[in-house]
Amino acid sequence: MQAFDAVVVGAGPAGLNAALYLVRAGFKTALIERNSAGGQVLSTSEIENYLGFPKGVKGYELADLFSAHADAYPVQRLRGDVVSMESTEENGKMHILHMQEGEDIKARAVIIATGAGNRPLGIKEEQMYKGKGVSYCALCDGNFYRGLDVAVVGGGDAALEEALYLSRIVNKVYIIHRREGFRGTQIYLDKIRSMPEKIELVTSCVVDSLDGEPNLKKVVVRHVQSGEKREIAAEGLFVYIGHVPNAQFAPAELERNEQGFLITDQEMQTKIPGIFAAGDIRAKLCRQVCTAVGDGATAASSAIRYLEHLNA
Ligand code: NAP
Repeated sequence: MQAFDAVVVGAGPAGLNAALYLVRAGFKTALIERNSAGGQVLSTSEIENYLGFPKGVKGYELADLFSAHADAYPVQRLRGDVVSMESTEENGKMHILHMQEGEDIKARAVIIATGAGNRPLGIKEEQMYKGKGVSYCALCDGNFYRGLDVAVVGGGDAALEEALYLSRIVNKVYIIHRREGFRGTQIYLDKIRSMPEKIELVTSCVVDSLDGEPNLKKVVVRHVQSGEKREIAAEGLFVYIGHVPNAQFAPAELERNEQGFLITDQEMQTKIPGIFAAGDIRAKLCRQVCTAVGDGATAASSAIRYLEHLNA
């Protein structure tokens, strides 16, 4: 079994920064990534509010820079999927990570930075049209809909930002949102409202059903008050209605909020000594790249203090 002082699970901004801090403090550190490093940043078209990039930066460019920075230090990068964790009392606490691919990994400190995945719409046709019209990534799939009409569901920053991205590629974008008010930032809304011929706001409506054979051709929306239905001719439906935490593998004893996000104190410590959480996996108000990076630094600092105390 491979053994480390610290293991960071998840190579998004929080995990990459945590690993960087740990290794710079001299601890033998592994960073486990399931796919490519970068997390949700990778599927974000343009990031306009990360300090230091006044002209904005493409998500994949920022992810590459983050990853290259971690690679400048001896962080051990491992690819794999953690399926469960347990803690033992081997010379004090030791945490064992069970890997899908086989060999377990152990460490005295673990930082969980596995972020969150897309929240599904939950309507019955959603699965059927995945890859045939339904998408969760405008950057990955937007080009398939060049010149066509598409819809985006959601009223947060992700929906607004990706609707703006799609508007540069497709013929027309409909934003379907369940309320009149939007959660997303005013600057995106102002841009959207300035181009009504390109982006139409369909508010107080939810997606009722999807239609088309074999690919999506029609999105049927339902007004939440009147119940009135409207058919929107759209060949793509991009779902941006928030996230669900990737915390299935984390110990059941860890505290979670009602949506399943992990609860930590302000220093990113969970209830189990030696297990910390950072980034979008945490229950918190603000989920931004900058807050994930900050969480990673704080979690690593707490882990460093914890490891130093064990070694004293
Ligand atoms: P979010 O802010 O939680 O917004 C989710 C949106 O989906 C809300 O408008 C919500 O409606 C709607 N929604 C939730 N469940 C729904 C359902 N079952 N059916 C229909 N609509 C539903 O999520 P997000 O936009 O993915 O953003 C997540 C975090 O990342 C936020 O903190 C956001 O600021 C941040 N982010 C930032 C940027 C940026 O600053 N550049 C870009 C992307 C994301 P209600 O409003 O009615 O609840």
